Amino acid sequence: MLYYNPKSFDEALKQIDSLKDKDVVILAGGTDVVPKLNARPERSGYFDKPLVALENKAVVSLNDSGMNYIKDKKSEIAVGAMTTMSQLLDSPIIDKVPVLKEALNVLAGLTIRNVATVGGNIMNASPAADSVPALIALDASVVLASIDSERTLKLSELFVAPGKTSCKGNEILKEVIIPVREGKCNFIKFGRRKAESLSIVNGAAYANMESGICKNVVIALGAVAPTPLRVEAAERIMEGNIVTEKLIAEAADVAADVVKPIDDKRSSGDYRKKLVKVLVKRALTKVCC
Ligand SMILES: Cc1cc2nc3c(=O)[nH]c(=O)nc-3n(C[C@H](O)[C@H](O)[C@H](O)COP(=O)(O)OP(=O)(O)OC[C@H]3O[C@@H](n4cnc5c(N)ncnc54)[C@H](O)[C@@H]3O)c2cc1C
Repeated sequence: MLYYNPKSFDEALKQIDSLKDKDVVILAGGTDVVPKLNARPERSGYFDKPLVALENKAVVSLNDSGMNYIKDKKSEIAVGAMTTMSQLLDSPIIDKVPVLKEALNVLAGLTIRNVATVGGNIMNASPAADSVPALIALDASVVLASIDSERTLKLSELFVAPGKTSCKGNEILKEVIIPVREGKCNFIKFGRRKAESLSIVNGAAYANMESGICKNVVIALGAVAPTPLRVEAAERIMEGNIVTEKLIAEAADVAADVVKPIDDKRSSGDYRKKLVKVLVKRALTKVCC
């Protein structure tokens, strides 16, 4: 295994570009990637075989690359990919988008939140990642950077499959851009415990209301499909209409129809569908009423 620790963002991009012929593993807080490494997986008893074999790997740590920041740009907030969950929770700037704190407060426990980064939570591409539905509801974008270019895309468009994003081999996630806009947002997580528990289902809703009419809405769900999901069919039920209990129930039914949850050790798919109905109803009631 080769290990690199670039001292600036530019150096990190150059380093990654120079390793084109190697199998590069980006290291952030390591809370997802380290348990998958080849170091005695049998000791954890969690994995049958190493998920990431270390021979031929080039590990590039971003820990000293200066990508740890939260910038208030008035109409938006720029968050460096290496910013930890605890730093976000402690930041008064993030009070402008409280739904993100709602989600991060129930992500793992304090010890993990002190090292886990927002970039790692996104780029691990778990369908159950807790920051992601909140960020999608906030209409967040991500900036992907390589040595010769930068591109920005909506977070909802980044995910391709479980553990897979559209980030190219020579790119890294540089920052997350969160617009600060009118309206209310809410995050809900159903797990097996209140802390240190991966989501059975999670989700967030955003709505901007005017005289009882839902002008603009986002419904984002996690752990119910191969990737985090924006439920546009349910959003269409709400948008432009006077919000009633019946309308919200209709949107919740549509969301439960659209999702394709799997059975796994945390829950059956059927139970997840039931939770989606409850979650969407609760979240929409909070943001619309
Ligand atoms: C005990 C425990 C409890 C947990 N509970 C939860 C929970 O409740 N909710 C939840 O959502 N998650 C949970 N997790 C998962 C994990 O903590 C989070 O996903 C965390 O945010 C990952 O961030 P990291 O900085 O540790 O990422 P790392 O493990 O360093 O990296 C994760 C992945 O992202 C890639 N990556 C990281 N940064 C970048 C970048 N800037 N550009 C490109 N690729 C990058 C890495 O190569 C790797 O593939 C838990 C983990 C543990 C060990």
